[in-house]
Amino acid sequence: MIRGSLAGPRLLLRRLREVMAEPIGAQERLDKIVAHIAANMVAEVCSVYILRADDVLELFATEGLKPEAVHQTGLRIGEGLVGVIADEARPLNLRDAQSHPSFAYLPETGEEEYHSFLGVPILRAGRTLGVLVVQNRAHRTYIDEEMEALQTTAMVIAEMIATGELQGLQTQGSELDMKRPLALHGLSLSEGIGLGHVVLHEPRVVVRNLIAEDVETELERLEKGIREMRMSVDDMLARGEVAHMGEHREVLEAYRMFAHDRGWVAKLEDAVRNGLTAEAAVERVQSDTRARMLRQRDPYLRERLHDLDDLANRLLRLLVDRDDKEQGGLYRDTVLVARNMGPAELLDYDLDRLRGVILEDGGPTSHVSIVAKALGLPSLGQIKGIVSLVETGDPIIVDADSGEVHIRPQSDVEAAYSEKVRLRARRQAQYRRLKNKPAITRDGTEITLMINAGLPFDMPHLEETGARGVGLFRTELQFMISASLPRLREQQAFYERILEEAGDRPVVFRTLDVGGDKVLPYLDAIPEENPSMGWRAIRLGLDRPALFRTQIRALLRAAAGRDLRVMLPMVADVSEIRLARELVEREIRFARNHNHKIAESIRLGAMLEVPSLLFQLEELMTVAQFVSVGTNDLFQFMMAADRGNPRVSGRFDTLNPSFLRALKKIADAAKQAHIPLTLCGEIAGRPPEAMALLALGYRSISMSPAGIGPIKAMVLQLDLARLTARLLPRLEPAGREADIRAFLQDFAEDNGLSI
Ligand code: PEP
Ligand code: MG
Repeated sequence: MIRGSLAGPRLLLRRLREVMAEPIGAQERLDKIVAHIAANMVAEVCSVYILRADDVLELFATEGLKPEAVHQTGLRIGEGLVGVIADEARPLNLRDAQSHPSFAYLPETGEEEYHSFLGVPILRAGRTLGVLVVQNRAHRTYIDEEMEALQTTAMVIAEMIATGELQGLQTQGSELDMKRPLALHGLSLSEGIGLGHVVLHEPRVVVRNLIAEDVETELERLEKGIREMRMSVDDMLARGEVAHMGEHREVLEAYRMFAHDRGWVAKLEDAVRNGLTAEAAVERVQSDTRARMLRQRDPYLRERLHDLDDLANRLLRLLVDRDDKEQGGLYRDTVLVARNMGPAELLDYDLDRLRGVILEDGGPTSHVSIVAKALGLPSLGQIKGIVSLVETGDPIIVDADSGEVHIRPQSDVEAAYSEKVRLRARRQAQYRRLKNKPAITRDGTEITLMINAGLPFDMPHLEETGARGVGLFRTELQFMISASLPRLREQQAFYERILEEAGDRPVVFRTLDVGGDKVLPYLDAIPEENPSMGWRAIRLGLDRPALFRTQIRALLRAAAGRDLRVMLPMVADVSEIRLARELVEREIRFARNHNHKIAESIRLGAMLEVPSLLFQLEELMTVAQFVSVGTNDLFQFMMAADRGNPRVSGRFDTLNPSFLRALKKIADAAKQAHIPLTLCGEIAGRPPEAMALLALGYRSISMSPAGIGPIKAMVLQLDLARLTARLLPRLEPAGREADIRAFLQDFAEDNGLSI
């Protein structure tokens, strides 16, 4: 490239820098900008169109077209050349604009005499905010350098739009697109509703210093930044680092490939030679990547563009001083928005300030969603493109009950949601008043209500809800949020803390339920076709006895002087309980031989979540010291409907008679054998389902803490004998199978139950 030809763009950027520093109004600044661009590019026309919320690209400033058209004329997205550029987020370079099929004639602008046309999108974070155009009378082709220069100047205008400087100049009664309310749909990861303000988990680096003072210095900075970035990627690969985000080797390899990509580096250098600072050059090239990413349909390529975007972000962070980065502060009502996030990263936030989490990726079985659920934090996943659609501080509503997110909601939407949240809070206050009341039905049957937990911050819920204990403690959560396998001592300390917080309330520890889809980043995952039916839970425990025995050892020691309850997950055959018991007994012998203080007594129970146990009930009740029904898995295996697949997870009603009959069979067997029985699936926390469970004979249920209040309120109002007498005949072979859910709803209504 010939240096001399670059004086143009560089000179233009210098002029623009002066204009940006002048103490003048936004309209005047924009007018000056277009005048400078036109002069510099020897164009007769230069115009800026800015996208409004109603999808119209309004003419905001022009040099060359009729001035009276400013703020009066506009084109819809897809309409005319300007509309096509906005729609496709791609430049258009035309020698003869009028012959283009999309050319639209706007008489008010007087543009008919201009033949050649060069237009570029005004982009920010991959999002189109407007279009910048130059036009000439003569038939001419704009060279690549001119297109580059125009794209670079478009960044300056993008910055003006993003800072809100142009807000209010548009035609009365309309709004700029940056402030447009948007509703998007995704996948619910953790139920609930949260209102708040956006905080980007990975704050966008704000490049304030766009225009280079000295190109050589900037080239050196860029080169240094790239060198450091390459070193850090090589370093990560050498260390085999697997960050908690689940960055696989494949991603790191992609990083390395891009970091050494000549085309990418050349583009960055060109942008600097055109007069941008090193960081502005990265942002400029990244903007194109993001625009391509949004258009890309092929999931593999899209993922690679994401990787390139991540890499550019790393480079940007290396180039921008810490002080210039957006401050990582939280609002009192923060809704985190991220492409993805690890569970430990979520827990690093001040949890009191979080109202919700929204992820571009994120599946229902991801660790972060398990933690969000444990925190009772409304969360949504699979909201494509959200990171580029929001700015820090945007008002936002997460409705994880319906799967919707409302960005910059209109006042009526916000009012409706605020009302909903207020109502919930009022109901919660009512439930809190019930916390010290025992859960006894109107006709005198006592029901034991317990909570499911997995992390220390779950434990205060015992006190808050008045629950009788922890019916299911998912020990795998500690393993999931740790960066490496927790050692014996760490496990023991963790369980001690849990038991201490529980006081004299019982805690049922479930041994590690990992493997399958609950992958631990530091254990080699073996790819499986059907992970939920794979090498997981007790299967892994029996095949890797060291892991299982370490956990038992930690539990025995942590419960020194107390009763210990341990429960085995995913038992499919009674023999597995016997094998596990042998391992437990070996641990007890080991402790005694070494004079370790351990639990006074240990009760070993089994989860009933694999249908095969339904046909070994009698034996099960003699081998297990207690049984807990895991309906989340039992239901998925009975109906052969993957609980994590939204296409089928809601296909069958949990209140269908065949499932209820199975649950009844279990309750009858436990009663006959005098074996303590609990049920700890999600259904325990839903009032209609809980009504059915009580009628089937369950007297102890364990649920997420938010369920305790509504369930206790229902129990206190329930005439259980009456419900039982009405429900059970419906499950008899000759009974009217009808719709059990509708029956329960009617029963509740007729008997004054608020469910
Ligand atoms: C269940 O399967 O019902 C259960 C309670 O366990 P988890 O949800 O952890 O699989
Ligand atoms: Mg389970």
